[in-house]
Amino acid sequence: MPQSPANPEASAHKIIPFVDLQAQYQSISAELLAATEEVLSKCNFILGKQVADFEEEFARFAGAKHAVGVSNGLDALRIALTALNIGPGHEVILPANTYIATAFAVSAAGAKPVLVDCDRENFNIDPSKIQAAITPRTKAIMPVHLTGQAADMNPILEIGKRRGLHVIEDAAQAHGAQSHGRPCGSMGIAGCFSFYPGKNLGAAGDGGAVTTNDANLAARMRVFRNNGETKKYEHVEKGLNARLDTLQAAILKVKLSRLAEWNRKRNAHADRYRALLSGINGLHLQSLISGSTHVHHLFMVQTNHRDELKKYLEVRGVQTGIHYPTPIHLQVAYADLGYKKGDFPNAEYLAPRILSIPMFAELTDDQIVYVSEQIRSFMKGKN
Ligand SMILES: *Cc1c(COP(=O)(O)O)cnc(C)c1O
Repeated sequence: MPQSPANPEASAHKIIPFVDLQAQYQSISAELLAATEEVLSKCNFILGKQVADFEEEFARFAGAKHAVGVSNGLDALRIALTALNIGPGHEVILPANTYIATAFAVSAAGAKPVLVDCDRENFNIDPSKIQAAITPRTKAIMPVHLTGQAADMNPILEIGKRRGLHVIEDAAQAHGAQSHGRPCGSMGIAGCFSFYPGKNLGAAGDGGAVTTNDANLAARMRVFRNNGETKKYEHVEKGLNARLDTLQAAILKVKLSRLAEWNRKRNAHADRYRALLSGINGLHLQSLISGSTHVHHLFMVQTNHRDELKKYLEVRGVQTGIHYPTPIHLQVAYADLGYKKGDFPNAEYLAPRILSIPMFAELTDDQIVYVSEQIRSFMKGKN
């Protein structure tokens, strides 16, 4: 490869992607091809046997009695809300720093998102700020297990119980994480997952699921996702077309069998990053919540020099991401909520400082060492 003068370091190394989906594909391609071939040859594309099989296996993985496969993570949240009769005139509490879909699901259900600030050290919703956001219209609290670390669920479940509010978990980043030994997706009335390709468990396209221990809720969600149908052409609800494709279920079944191992690898990589990145002046790592486990969907560092660090790494072949650059209350789409700058100081503090560095199961030790060395050399003399 020719030496590019502007890019002296990257030439010595391959590009280190933020997520390497091809490396994952190569490790399981034969099984994926066999699983897809079976669906393609049978042509059971809609609610085929693989959907029910995957739902059963995923429910077991998430420690819940039922799982309902749906079209994506946003629809998982939306269907859970609607099936719990949450809609117009109602409010749902969620963190100000999350992916926009958490809020969009509430809006799509016809309810109003009410935001709460996050903890500056662990990035998840600050349970001590929930109480003040509750009004007579509040119906649910929607904690997000952001970055793959389970939110501090004990106080959240306690507030829900005391105030008669549903707790709906946004577990889109946290397949396999736990709070005090309970898997994400098993603690609230519903747990909502995304199988977007880059998530810890990802489809070959879009997919999602809702887990629950409530048989009636599961049954109602199955009706909603399938055009409100109980029998063909008998529509008992104003439903959606929001099913999980059989083809995606077949792929997810293969990947689910590897998920625990992949999560273990992610955690080992995170330990390695933590060791290599500790004691760097001006660089902060995410703090861990007592009683929570982490499946490291993301590994974030935090610095006052984020944009510069991002460019520095990019030039040296290290791809990074920002999750997320703009909190919900400052998004144009939510100008109508009437929030302003300064309303959620921790979310606003983090947005310009956080950087997600490469994290996926197939990451090699050489790559981790290289990324860490680049960060260390950038931070030299900074604070
Ligand atoms: C990915 C994600 C979603 C949405 O999932 P999609 O499958 O992309 O619709 C919702 N919430 C969070 C926290 C996410 O990370």
